[in-house]
Amino acid sequence: MNFGIDDLPVRDELRGKSPYGAPQLDVPVRLNTNENPYPLPEPLVERIAERVREAARDLNRYPDRDAVELRTQLAKYLTDTSGYAVGLANVWAANGSNEVIQQLLQTFGGPGRTAIGFEPSYSMHGLIARGTGTGWISGPRNDDFTIDLAAAERAVAEHRPDVVFVTTPNNPTGTAVPAGTVLALYEAAQAAKPSMVVVDEAYIEFSHGESLLPLLEGRPNLVVSRTMSKAFGAAGLRLGYLAAHPAVVDAVQLVRLPYHLSAVTQATALAALEHTDTLLKYVEQLKAERDRLVDELLAIGYEVTPSDANFVQFGRFADAHEVWQRILDRGVLVRDNGVPGWLRVTAGTPEENDAFLDAVREVKKEKD
Ligand code: PMP
Repeated sequence: MNFGIDDLPVRDELRGKSPYGAPQLDVPVRLNTNENPYPLPEPLVERIAERVREAARDLNRYPDRDAVELRTQLAKYLTDTSGYAVGLANVWAANGSNEVIQQLLQTFGGPGRTAIGFEPSYSMHGLIARGTGTGWISGPRNDDFTIDLAAAERAVAEHRPDVVFVTTPNNPTGTAVPAGTVLALYEAAQAAKPSMVVVDEAYIEFSHGESLLPLLEGRPNLVVSRTMSKAFGAAGLRLGYLAAHPAVVDAVQLVRLPYHLSAVTQATALAALEHTDTLLKYVEQLKAERDRLVDELLAIGYEVTPSDANFVQFGRFADAHEVWQRILDRGVLVRDNGVPGWLRVTAGTPEENDAFLDAVREVKKEKD
């Protein structure tokens, strides 16, 4: 007899659900998870080794529970790049921004509470909501994937959510959200009931526009979340962080596991932050490649959603999954996020992008 999940006494809301899972297929060109295609530069690899060797000497001890040095350096990075001054007390770090989001939902969501996101957007917001017992509300977007502010304000007024997610640039569409929209949503959310607005800026370094960090001024219920997985090219490191009013940083400490951020993680992240300038040069190359992908996809005859991220949503297809398969058959893995009619490609190296463009050119010819 097959014994499966449903035979276990799992929580009702987990029954029949699937785990998050972008396919990790072994194909020549993987452009499906918005990773940075460039391996860390060798001098940084050396520096990581040095820092980790030092940390290893103390591994018999628990790590710095408050990650003070790391949070100080993250605050410096945010201040330097945004011009808006934040300090240690404003910054909190965890194992990927997914864990940051989980801690926020454990703190401000939970049973009897709700969170809203404007979909299609990053599916983990809803999945982490479910995992923390927070009710999930799917808010609307316009057909061009911008946020329909009037409809969003109505949804917030009607549902009075405890947490509002705004992803900018949005995943999977690449759409940037104007500061004015976030401000209006913040006001709408506070009018409905005191609630937290979480601006997920995982891809902000790739944007044509500016970070919304300055909006934190005078808005204690606003949180900006960030990650080292994309611009820093360190998805394997698992380091996400947030900036907010110090009270928010105090609040998430009520739910974080003690010593959640290992000494090895802290040492590695600190080494990467020492090399910020070099890593951000790759961001410039990726932005140029992202813009090239947009231009070439349009030239081939596809529709493209304007992108401020390191990926591009393209379409439209009667059957996106079938097109996904045809591209995969040519050795290129892109992402089918389940947005009807659309697929998403991550900007890779120029060679990877050429391989992708060759593949979609061929697919287009076959279909025409
Ligand atoms: N937010 C958004 C919008 C994302 O796309 C991702 C990763 N795909 C994350 C957060 C989580 O990233 P990480 O946990 O690697 O920091």
